Amino acid sequence: MRSLTNLNVASFEEAASAAQQARQLGQSVAFSGGGTDLLQQIKDGTDNADVVINLRSVPDGRAIETNGNGVSIGGLVTLTELSEDPLVNASMSAIAQAAVSVGTPQIRNVGTLAGNVTQRPWCWYYRNGFNCFKAGGEECFSLDGENGQHAIFGGGPSFIVHPSDVAPALVAFDAIFQVTGPNGDREVSAEDFFVLPITDPVRENSLRENELLTGVVIPNLSANTVSTYYKVMDREAWTHAEIGVATVIQRDGNVAQSAKVVLTGVAPIPWRVQAVEDFLAGKQISAAVAREAGEIGIRDAQPLTKNAHKLPMTSAAIETAVLSLAAG
Ligand SMILES: Cc1cc2nc3c(=O)[nH]c(=O)nc-3n(C[C@H](O)[C@H](O)[C@H](O)COP(=O)(O)OP(=O)(O)OC[C@H]3O[C@@H](n4cnc5c(N)ncnc54)[C@H](O)[C@@H]3O)c2cc1C
Repeated sequence: MRSLTNLNVASFEEAASAAQQARQLGQSVAFSGGGTDLLQQIKDGTDNADVVINLRSVPDGRAIETNGNGVSIGGLVTLTELSEDPLVNASMSAIAQAAVSVGTPQIRNVGTLAGNVTQRPWCWYYRNGFNCFKAGGEECFSLDGENGQHAIFGGGPSFIVHPSDVAPALVAFDAIFQVTGPNGDREVSAEDFFVLPITDPVRENSLRENELLTGVVIPNLSANTVSTYYKVMDREAWTHAEIGVATVIQRDGNVAQSAKVVLTGVAPIPWRVQAVEDFLAGKQISAAVAREAGEIGIRDAQPLTKNAHKLPMTSAAIETAVLSLAAG
């Protein structure tokens, strides 16, 4: 049986430095937030950590608070806390709705914001031990295989889809990702945090070795901001999005002054649909406009052999999300 060391740390800085020390000794390392994903990966052998750095002993990163720059959300805030927070519900409902849509109450009670955003892909090849790009190999088995749940945007050379419900909502709100590592702190824009497989086929984000996500900041919002997260699943509960749509609109009366539309479950990263955003800007939100937004949203899609069903689903999800933000 493999042995595993659990390290309870008292701060993010200690976590980063413990990770660095362990790697210098040739050990593989994983950070654990709630452990809802990681511990199963270790049991299944898809994560081969020798050392688990347990963040549940870290007292920081658990607050949701406003400051001059916006709303800061700690990386160790649980999804239940996020979904129930009055400030988040009042001004960023897409984030609250995304958080409450994750898995089950048990997962949300311990699963953290940071763990949700940095969870590894749930591609059945990767999770079942195939030596694919995500496992360090040089092949994506979905391309010629079972690709019904794989990417219709941004794929290649890996065609995984980003699994997080909360990440697209953060991107739609232009979140700034706060990162700590052995060389100190840095901030990364939402656009730069997630990376396509063409840039790095192994990883889904720009965290460097031994770095952790400590939280996000949502920049100040204008008072007329409205938002929603709409999720389509292949069953009614307990599962990731086939398609999720986070939509944020600055609304004047019923006119969308500007919009952000970000998808999950259809691309290797949270996928901004700029063409829809451009189309919506300045439009009265109506059933016809929402329908056209949905049609525009799939124009650049490149379905694989078995996932064309995602096109009408994505189109309808965008339409539903946009129309739900009509005034009144
Ligand atoms: C049955 C089931 C259903 C699920 N349904 C959904 C769903 O509907 N939607 C969804 O989005 N997710 C879902 N998940 C995935 C996952 O459990 C949740 O996303 C959860 O929020 C992960 O958070 P965690 O803190 O438990 O992460 P962990 O399991 O602790 O970690 C997940 C990954 O993130 C890394 N990590 C954790 N914290 C940090 C950090 N601070 N910095 C850097 N890396 C870090 C870990 O090393 C690991 O690779 C589901 C899981 C299960 C088992």
